[in-house]
Amino acid sequence: MDTQSREHSRKRLVMGNWKMHGNQAANTVLLDGLCAGVTAVPNCDVAVCVPFPYLGQANASLQGSGISWGAQDVSRHEQGAYTGEVAAAMLADFGCAWVLAGHSERRAMHGETDQLVADKAAAALSAGLTPVVCVGETLDEQEAGRTKDVISRQLAPVLALGASSLARIVLAYEPVWAIGTGLTATPDQAQEVHAFIRARLAELGVPQVRILYGGSVKASNAASLFAMPDIDGALVGGASLVAEEFLRIAAA
Ligand code: PEP
Repeated sequence: MDTQSREHSRKRLVMGNWKMHGNQAANTVLLDGLCAGVTAVPNCDVAVCVPFPYLGQANASLQGSGISWGAQDVSRHEQGAYTGEVAAAMLADFGCAWVLAGHSERRAMHGETDQLVADKAAAALSAGLTPVVCVGETLDEQEAGRTKDVISRQLAPVLALGASSLARIVLAYEPVWAIGTGLTATPDQAQEVHAFIRARLAELGVPQVRILYGGSVKASNAASLFAMPDIDGALVGGASLVAEEFLRIAAA
């Protein structure tokens, strides 16, 4: 499939990652703002990944809004004696469509390995959720010219899930040095990595997989990123906590 037809076959997806922010009162303001404004962005899929305790609130507030919701992590286990973990079926029970797997903060702070991330993606798929698998290099790795090696290593167990699974996932390229730092990969830098990932997917017969970019995306830089042929949307942290800013990104 050539670049132009690829561009036309994938609707953009803009997904917020609230991280560990929010409370019921603040969430109500944010969710109401999103529901009120989302009709102005019909050409983009809009979603939010909220902390576990607020999944019920998202489920209640976003019904029928056109905005989908999800969680930020999932257990690789189906059920059982895994205190503190949350199963994919539980997320589905709260209407989740999505779950992040392998966000860099979980890889760095919770020691999540590439294989564990792939296992979590598989668990999500088994429960009918779409995993959003995050990959990305650190600043040291980027400066050492190792970006593609790192992405290849992180992707290997995910790609091993096979074409029929891959066709049901979303990938997010999030350079660690750009997350929450205000530094964004230039559109060309991001495109180069997205094209690299796309080529790997194409070899496996699934070039249509959506690949989001994440890392300090804001309304002011979203349009130039989205102009790139292999960038299918964004995973947005900080800027997803303000409804107007987040929707401006979706409108970009
Ligand atoms: C993220 O948390 O996935 C992220 C990209 O954060 P930010 O937009 O704040 O850099």
